[in-house]
Amino acid sequence: MELDVLLKELDENLTINRVEKSGKALYIYCDINCTVAKCKYCGMESHSVHSRYIRTISDLPIQDYQVKLVITVPKFFCANERCSHKTFAYLIPFAASNSLRTKRLDDYIYRVGMKNSSLEAEKQISDSHVSVSNNTILRIIKKSGTSHRL
Ligand SMILES: [Zn+2]
Repeated sequence: MELDVLLKELDENLTINRVEKSGKALYIYCDINCTVAKCKYCGMESHSVHSRYIRTISDLPIQDYQVKLVITVPKFFCANERCSHKTFAYLIPFAASNSLRTKRLDDYIYRVGMKNSSLEAEKQISDSHVSVSNNTILRIIKKSGTSHRL
């Protein structure tokens, strides 16, 4: 399967520019290919891109490599004069805002964390080429505790 296909599962607007290997990490540089978006504050559609910014998000590992998505995310102007915001960022569907990890990576960490003692979970997760601290594992379990059913 092509890498492109795997990433389209996250968001069909993702397109890969290039992939770089650095140590034990794969950096996948991608764009969000989207020229129209709805303002997340007022719902009005915008066709005008204000700027772009880079967001780096860790995803599930591929073979022995950590995966880091380096994503160029568009910001749009909101044309609605009554909107409380002049600009808004494209809403990435596969990661919580400000999260450094994809939701599916958090899910994986959560599942391992729930099945093991925290030391065992940390070892198992780092053996699977995900670098995450014990504190982060605990935080993910606490945060997800209310939204997951076992
Ligand atoms: Zn708006």
